[in-house]
Amino acid sequence: MQLHHLVNTLGQDLQRRYGEKVHKLTLHGGFSCPNRDGTIGRGGCTFCNVASFADETQQVKSIQTQLQERAGEIHRAKKYLAYFQAYTNTYAEVQVLKNMYEQALEAADIVGLCVGTRPDCVPDAVLDLLADYVAQGFEIWLELGLQTANNTTLKRINRGHDFECYAAITQRARALGIKVCTHLIVGLPRETHHDNMDTLKQVLDVGTDGIKLHGLHIVEGSTMAKAWRAGRLEAPTLESYIATASEMIRHTPSNIVYHRVSAAARRPTLLSPLWCENRWLAMTEMFRALDKNGAQGSAIEDTFVFVPPTALPAQ
Ligand code: SF4
Repeated sequence: MQLHHLVNTLGQDLQRRYGEKVHKLTLHGGFSCPNRDGTIGRGGCTFCNVASFADETQQVKSIQTQLQERAGEIHRAKKYLAYFQAYTNTYAEVQVLKNMYEQALEAADIVGLCVGTRPDCVPDAVLDLLADYVAQGFEIWLELGLQTANNTTLKRINRGHDFECYAAITQRARALGIKVCTHLIVGLPRETHHDNMDTLKQVLDVGTDGIKLHGLHIVEGSTMAKAWRAGRLEAPTLESYIATASEMIRHTPSNIVYHRVSAAARRPTLLSPLWCENRWLAMTEMFRALDKNGAQGSAIEDTFVFVPPTALPAQ
């Protein structure tokens, strides 16, 4: 099973452009979230595992220490993208962000940054800082949590921003040469296959460079966990997830990079669905669906034809 023959995966995209494997190295900046502390909202997004929040943000090691520790663990690549993943990694004074990002960028094998954040938490000063790294030759990805383009759902899940906010920051970032990766969730409460396809269409209309997809996870400590325990909420089945996610991929132009097509989680934090404990299960089913129905971009009139990696000219 080689999913990258059917999907333009980040791993394959990096291999193609750098001529070697580039690994995403997750770092913790110890950031907080404005949708928790009252700046934008309280209680957080209803799917978020806010119970782990305090543990995650306490006693974060320095970036140099994290890099040293991780370098010993990872032997699969010689180059890395430093990935600031947890919570809102632009939620600090710009000088603090600059100091943290540059500790990572100064490491010899780091070729760029992936910065996960909310669309409403990227002021111009942060965009300018990231654009400056682009001008220096670094690869910079702004990973924006959107989850859905449906403003009614965004309100229901307490995101604290609307689609228009996402669209505006995406356009500004991309105009500065910063790549945008859009995070989307399949199976949010009361959303249907049609809603997910409509979200994809709106995201593509605005323009993006990458997409990260996963099914709804109901996790301990989230608002959704209470609704799930009360029998008022169900997580998507593997079949429904694959049916929708594979169609989204087939309707995505082939030049857009998929950073992820499903995500794994583990008990006891994970409550439902338990199929996502086994990441290979979803990957295998995704491969089967795309192999049967067509690869990324096959469901649209896409002038950019997906070129399987085996057919690429030698670099
Ligand atoms: S999902 Fe992200 S934006 Fe939402 S509450 Fe959790 S950390 Fe904050």
